[in-house]
Amino acid sequence: MKIKNRLWKDGKKGCLTFSYDDGKKQDYRLVEIFNKYGMKGTFNLNSGFMRDNGDHVMTKDVATLYAGHEVAVHSHTHPTLPELPSTIILEEIMRDKQILEEWCGYTVRGMAYPNGPYDERVARLCHDCGMNYARTTVATNNYRLPEDFMVLHPTTHHNGNLDKLWDDLVNMPPFRLNMPLLYIWGHSYEFDMKDNWNVIEGFCEKAANHPDVWYATNIEVFDYVRAQRMVDYSIDKNMAYNPSAISVWIDVDGKPVELKPGENKF
Ligand SMILES: [Zn+2]
Repeated sequence: MKIKNRLWKDGKKGCLTFSYDDGKKQDYRLVEIFNKYGMKGTFNLNSGFMRDNGDHVMTKDVATLYAGHEVAVHSHTHPTLPELPSTIILEEIMRDKQILEEWCGYTVRGMAYPNGPYDERVARLCHDCGMNYARTTVATNNYRLPEDFMVLHPTTHHNGNLDKLWDDLVNMPPFRLNMPLLYIWGHSYEFDMKDNWNVIEGFCEKAANHPDVWYATNIEVFDYVRAQRMVDYSIDKNMAYNPSAISVWIDVDGKPVELKPGENKF
């Protein structure tokens, strides 16, 4: 028995996630498309702008609309965080987190930096507010996982070359890259502005139901990668110990093997 590589949940070779900002009313249509094709997304909301009328998703709809996806922090009122004193940053993140938790009924643990900018101080403050990850707007055009999830760069905006990025992901030789992640971000209102809903609908149709891909929200990606990174390996690659509370999958002699919580094999 030789352990060769880490795999995504259920032994999948790739992962696809989406992140959409601002919670404007075009999210109703985007969520419908995601649900139709089995896509999973994270929606970063500014609770300070959300009312029961106007341009945003109605507060009464937040829990039901985004059910099965993830609601995440985008600050209470969308300021550019590095320009602010620390007390105001803390208030912007904590207040948004608290309100979203009241609306959704679960612990909100991730975010996207409003307007994109961040620095070390901002990342540390957001982490101390209970954020497990924070997304930037810096496109990498690759599939690598971040070393530090408080600086989580997406692969691409949805205006990037989605078809090529998808084809390269699913045609990647097995195990060329440990746990490749295709991470797409944007704003749903951009599809109205550019009158190009066909971009996301066409991509979701193409990417739906691939047997080698795990469709996950941002926090599911974070939780899974954290668990993977906790696994301890023997030097001879014959044994692995999973101290986390969720199953992880590893490649053993070319086959996916589930390592259950607390399990030590082989
Ligand atoms: Zn925004």
